[in-house]
Amino acid sequence: MQAIIVDHVGGPEVMRLVERPMPTPGPGEVLVRNHFSGINYIDTYYRSGLYPAQLPATLGNEASGVVSAIGPDVTQVQVGDHVAYLASQDAYAQYSKAQASRVVKLDGLPLDTAAAVLLQGLTAHTLVTRAYAVSPGDWVLVHAGAGGTGRLLIQLCRHLGASVIATVSSEEKAQIARAAGAHHIILYTKEIVPDAVRKIIPEGVHAVFDGVGKATFEGSLQSLRMEGSMVSFGNSSGAVPPVHLFELSQKNLKLLRPRLYGYLLTEEDHRRHIAEVFRLVEEKVIDVHVFNIYDLADAPKAHEELEGRKTTGKLLLRIN
Ligand code: NDP
Repeated sequence: MQAIIVDHVGGPEVMRLVERPMPTPGPGEVLVRNHFSGINYIDTYYRSGLYPAQLPATLGNEASGVVSAIGPDVTQVQVGDHVAYLASQDAYAQYSKAQASRVVKLDGLPLDTAAAVLLQGLTAHTLVTRAYAVSPGDWVLVHAGAGGTGRLLIQLCRHLGASVIATVSSEEKAQIARAAGAHHIILYTKEIVPDAVRKIIPEGVHAVFDGVGKATFEGSLQSLRMEGSMVSFGNSSGAVPPVHLFELSQKNLKLLRPRLYGYLLTEEDHRRHIAEVFRLVEEKVIDVHVFNIYDLADAPKAHEELEGRKTTGKLLLRIN
């Protein structure tokens, strides 16, 4: 089968399309013929070395496709079922193994939609329900509001009754964040974020959802009101340097650094959050905005565009 592998860390050019042996499903595992794999910013961290990966590595943390074989003791799915799943860095490939208990049968949801919404939808949903439970009347700040996760965060925060301020880097991205439901937009390439926030809501916001990291962290803290919550969940501009705790004490702030998988440890949490995300898609509370679908061989181009801030919404790989 074909797969994208990385045998040394670096820029997008280190990704290579190669022939790999087909995985064989063991007890409790299924083999999925992937049709779509979602591209996520985290894939770039494993490729660049920001997050450590065992090399050579196949990238990719989510996919959708058709079950092509099942291992012993699998009762949850059958060959031919359409499924989606969170993968362990092996989804940029024609076939991947997955735990049967962790694949989700798609009840009519198209394969491309499922791959497009799974990881970023789960991230946004767990952030607004468990990292900081957004409530009616809250003010929230969402960075990179035209991005895959940011756009979904805007939709969910608005649905939960919050007033949403979103940051973006361009006018074109502002339109996308506004269409997703943001009440106010800040062009963080031109404006000073905390100053712009205080013009909109002088007390500051209740919570910041910050996936940009290094470039926005300080401004996010300054944008919070007393007892506000800083949810730092990513590093698209680079990793946040160590934080001095005294920075939090002036406003009694809460600081969280959540990881999606930490909210999905039990099968019950995993099943519940996915069911909820798919329900929100069906009810059109959240929708998927696919920026582009790339061929598997074009994964390096997709990473280049994602890291070059050229994309909006979701990027997918089509796997023939
Ligand atoms: P996005 O689609 O949001 O793409 C990243 C965006 O970040 C860009 O489009 C850009 O938007 C913005 N950005 C700001 N500064 C930079 C920079 N210097 N270089 C590149 N981009 C920059 O990606 P994802 O939705 O996949 O991920 C968003 C964040 O969420 C990432 O940090 C990711 O790691 C994190 N994440 C964390 C998870 C967790 O478990 N903690 C799970 C999933 C995602 P603009 O041009 O508007 O600035």
